[in-house]
Amino acid sequence: MAIEQKDVLEWVNKYAGVITENRQYLIDLDSAIGDADHGENMNRGFQAVVKKMPEVADKDIGSVLKMVGMTLLSTVGGAGGPLYGTLFMQMGTKSAGKMTLDLKDWCDMLDAALIGVVARGKAVLGDKTMVDALTPALNTLKDAAQNGKTIAEALAESAAAAEKGMKDTIPLVARKGRASYLGERSAGHQDPGATSSYFLLKAAAEIWK
Ligand code: ADP
Ligand code: MG
Repeated sequence: MAIEQKDVLEWVNKYAGVITENRQYLIDLDSAIGDADHGENMNRGFQAVVKKMPEVADKDIGSVLKMVGMTLLSTVGGAGGPLYGTLFMQMGTKSAGKMTLDLKDWCDMLDAALIGVVARGKAVLGDKTMVDALTPALNTLKDAAQNGKTIAEALAESAAAAEKGMKDTIPLVARKGRASYLGERSAGHQDPGATSSYFLLKAAAEIWK
């Protein structure tokens, strides 16, 4: 079984819908430890992406994902937009020219995405950011691939790891982004970016189950 180009289109569209549904939830999370705009930033960015989806309907997976990245970079301000822009640009670079992906390709794409996010934002594991959801998701994905799991199993396990990583941000003190301005007072709240990253991997698992 492979991940096909049409599945990637569905994943992006599905994620855009999930962001709209959770716009207020992400705003609420960001209002506790940030400036209450994460849901609005992500929603604005992905609504712009949805409008451009017809332009890439027949394009290779790399072109689709690079369009997503470039659209986020040009429409979303703050920290989250450029970081998600980088994530999608890196995924798109790794999948350039491809119309299908196997599990190894998906691992390489997420690996490159996380390297890009870390290079741009300089957050390490435990800083209470989206990196705390993406890192366990990637590690679990790599293990699943090595252990011969199917794409569906691997994506489900990686989404579960992201969910745990997201919940594990609750007690952490933020060391990056606006939440870090709160110092110790950031503890006790779930990170908004880790939450939107969990939604991204959850949407992938739902498409490919
Ligand atoms: P802003 O912080 O500029 O208002 P958003 O609210 O859209 O941007 O996004 C906030 C999220 O971005 C945080 O919850 C966190 O997960 C993520 N984030 C912030 N700074 C960094 C960073 N340096 N590295 C990784 N992720 C970061
Ligand atoms: Mg914010």
